[in-house]
Amino acid sequence: MRKRSSFQGGTDLKLCVRIVVLLSALLAFGATSSILDMTPPIRGLVRADLRDTFGEFHNGHRHEAIDILEPRGTPVHAVVSGTIRKLFLSKPGGNTIYQFDETGVYCYYYAHLDRYVEGLREGVRVERGDVIGFVGSTGNADARTPHLHFAIFELEQQRQWWKGKAVNPYPGLVDAVNRVK
Ligand SMILES: [Zn+2]
Repeated sequence: MRKRSSFQGGTDLKLCVRIVVLLSALLAFGATSSILDMTPPIRGLVRADLRDTFGEFHNGHRHEAIDILEPRGTPVHAVVSGTIRKLFLSKPGGNTIYQFDETGVYCYYYAHLDRYVEGLREGVRVERGDVIGFVGSTGNADARTPHLHFAIFELEQQRQWWKGKAVNPYPGLVDAVNRVK
């Protein structure tokens, strides 16, 4: 009897392990973030162009973004496929784009744009790699150093474009740059 029960216990344990493995695989699949699918917002970007300034303080605020210095007019590409949720002219950000990914989990934010690409409207779908705007210095950026201010927010349940938790884009950008080779 003892042997039999311990054998059964072993079977149950194996079954449990299998279920746990299967569940974690499913969870990992479901949690795949669009950040892992990013392509660089600027063509020809190399790792040396990226600096992790996420934690720096700019004008008294935590930066929570990455600045990519490029000549004015350099095309800015959508880093993932998704929807243009909001085109907003803000005092600090200038011409900005809030783009949601396909699942509405993350919002990708592009600021200080010189202008949007022609025909860009709120609600339109963009594919990863599409040109959405051009580098500039609108808002509070120094006119002598045009750059793309790029940020990622994890949206809240209500999916409001102005609300979210900042995620450091630096590791994802480095991966994106490394994948283009
Ligand atoms: Zn910035």
